[in-house]
Amino acid sequence: MNEQTGASRKASVRDVRRTNRALLLRHVMFAGETTRPEAGAATMLSPGTITNLVTELIAEGTVVEGRKLDSPGGRPRTVLAVNPHAAIVFGADVGEAEVTVEAFDLTMRRLGGRTHAFTGRRISPQTVSSVVAGAVEALTAELVAAGDFGATPTILGIGLGVPGIVEHPDVWAGDADASAEPLVHAQVVGWDSVRFSDLAAELPAPLLIDNGAKSTTQAEAWYGSAQGVEHGAVVLIGDGAGAGIITNGRLYRGSSSSAGEWGHTKISLDGIRCRCGARGCVETFVGASAVLERWRGREDAWLGREPEGIDELFAAYHRGDEVAERSLRDLINHLGIALSNLVNLYNPQKIVVGGWFGDRLAEEFLADIAAAVRRSSLSQPGAEVVVERSSLGRRATALGAATLPLDRFIERGWPQ
Ligand SMILES: [Zn+2]
Repeated sequence: MNEQTGASRKASVRDVRRTNRALLLRHVMFAGETTRPEAGAATMLSPGTITNLVTELIAEGTVVEGRKLDSPGGRPRTVLAVNPHAAIVFGADVGEAEVTVEAFDLTMRRLGGRTHAFTGRRISPQTVSSVVAGAVEALTAELVAAGDFGATPTILGIGLGVPGIVEHPDVWAGDADASAEPLVHAQVVGWDSVRFSDLAAELPAPLLIDNGAKSTTQAEAWYGSAQGVEHGAVVLIGDGAGAGIITNGRLYRGSSSSAGEWGHTKISLDGIRCRCGARGCVETFVGASAVLERWRGREDAWLGREPEGIDELFAAYHRGDEVAERSLRDLINHLGIALSNLVNLYNPQKIVVGGWFGDRLAEEFLADIAAAVRRSSLSQPGAEVVVERSSLGRRATALGAATLPLDRFIERGWPQ
């Protein structure tokens, strides 16, 4: 055997080991509780491999053994679970009007959070950075004081979900050794190739960044309404609109990770000008501020506090206000057309409707939305698609951001 073959064999043994570890850890994470035989059946790994990997995961503190279960006629089996206190994971959702930072344990149980609302419409990356860094520091201090994670807790990583396109979402922000770095292009908030390496330098753990709709789609696929969905779409409607497309059980990214910018696909030749500069974009018909604008008949409807404006709109609708009714009816018809384009393009088995405004719409008008989708879709894919309200609701966004470092951990182990 020559030297090169030896080296590549070592590398492939390491790859197989890493793949097996990821397979097992993913099973333990999602099962909640399992046993060695159950893990073997679920992963198809051999009993010897399971034994070795479990020993390794216990030694590094990721997995803990629990109570013993009697097994009929055999040796008692020991329950295995992820050690919730092995690390803290942070998820930060950068929305159009606020930033929410939440802390989770390693089982993704929410431990606490901070929300910071912005008063202006255009948030600067520097403001976002200082809010996120401050929230991570404050939440960590709270968790240390509570005592579950010891005096110097391990922070697995921080995930940042942002509005806009993120190139190289698989690279740690600020990683000097990487050949590429994450670049954020969020035209609607005026960000052009923003790097967030200053934020990464301020944080106590590595930072991963992805588009918020994509990270939220991952949360829906792992814990929410898109679990087990092989072909689906998760649409998020807030002030703007975005989508995550799942094909063959994986998030579809396109050539430079911009796929899913559904909010800026066009459904009209004209209409009000979108924040991206174009006319006819989906989000100018279905986004919360666009609807408020139609209802109130003025262009300054965005007050930075849309939830209150939307409450007023729904209250007016319930009072029988004709303009409110027409505005919502118009929105549902346009949403139906915009979603039917996804149906005709991707043939999803399910469309999950989420985002703070999408959630309000789905709560009240889900059947109307589904009917509007079917009216504009080709009959076969239209008849098949299930339109569903997100079961995670607004919890999905920060949780989705936190799945970024968790996914990296499952695939590659502890950050070096
Ligand atoms: Zn647009």
